[in-house]
Amino acid sequence: MKFAPELISRLRSARDVAVLTGSGMSADSGVPTFRGPRNSLWENYAPEELATEGAFKRNPQLVWTWYEWRREIIRAARPNAGHLALARMQNHVLRLTLVTQNVDGLHTAAGNTGVIELHGNIMRNRCSRDETHPQMAESSSTPRCSSCGAHLRPDVVWFGEHLHTAGLETASAAAKRCEVFLCIGTSALINPAALLPVIALEHGAALVEINISDTPLTQFAHYPLKGSASRILPHLIEQTYGDQQ
Ligand code: NAD
Repeated sequence: MKFAPELISRLRSARDVAVLTGSGMSADSGVPTFRGPRNSLWENYAPEELATEGAFKRNPQLVWTWYEWRREIIRAARPNAGHLALARMQNHVLRLTLVTQNVDGLHTAAGNTGVIELHGNIMRNRCSRDETHPQMAESSSTPRCSSCGAHLRPDVVWFGEHLHTAGLETASAAAKRCEVFLCIGTSALINPAALLPVIALEHGAALVEINISDTPLTQFAHYPLKGSASRILPHLIEQTYGDQQ
């Protein structure tokens, strides 16, 4: 696999790089994307109808069981070669800001530090009544908050909910500042995360997209790289930093 020489030199000389990842990043770790093919016992449910506060209020048992199923998959998942390449990248870039829409914790498991998890982390629970009250996940069904008795819920951002302001502000600042922005495995449809590459473009960054399919962003990317993140990233990182310590 050979990349444009100016991509490699822009990446190599960049002191400030921002990365946004979506569920395609973890597809080759065996964690299904929301919009990919459905072939599970949940195939008759749209994630948009389960990952909402309304769905949880209507049927907490159903939503909880779906999350338990997703947690089982994620517990068994390991970082893929793409996650490991991004962890390696951290050793070479002065300021790397890694922003993810994923809730699976695989970037941190791969070794990246300071990952901005815009949509939370599926392995944590929090009280559905108290926003400031995260608790570790229990495996029993529909557990209750030990302090107030309300339902516990996964500590993730559901459709229709606001993202944590601090994470979003840090991510936006990185998008404005960076010299290169990598947009990896996201359909680039869901705002505000989808705005981050647009902000980066407006501020003069080189935009690299890695995806197996075209997205609304592809036509604006300086370097659209078509293919799997787990295949492309190791080559990209090796060709960029391979001759460095
Ligand atoms: P999405 O499901 O909307 O889109 C996935 C994107 O990844 C698509 O554009 C697809 O073409 C691309 N893709 C699939 N396999 C790929 C691969 N191997 N390499 C590169 N690209 C690949 O996902 P989204 O845009 O991230 O939005 C859905 C939301 O669902 C996310 O914000 C996230 O919170 C949540 N989610 C998270 C996980 C996870 O944590 N792993 C999994 C599913 C959904």
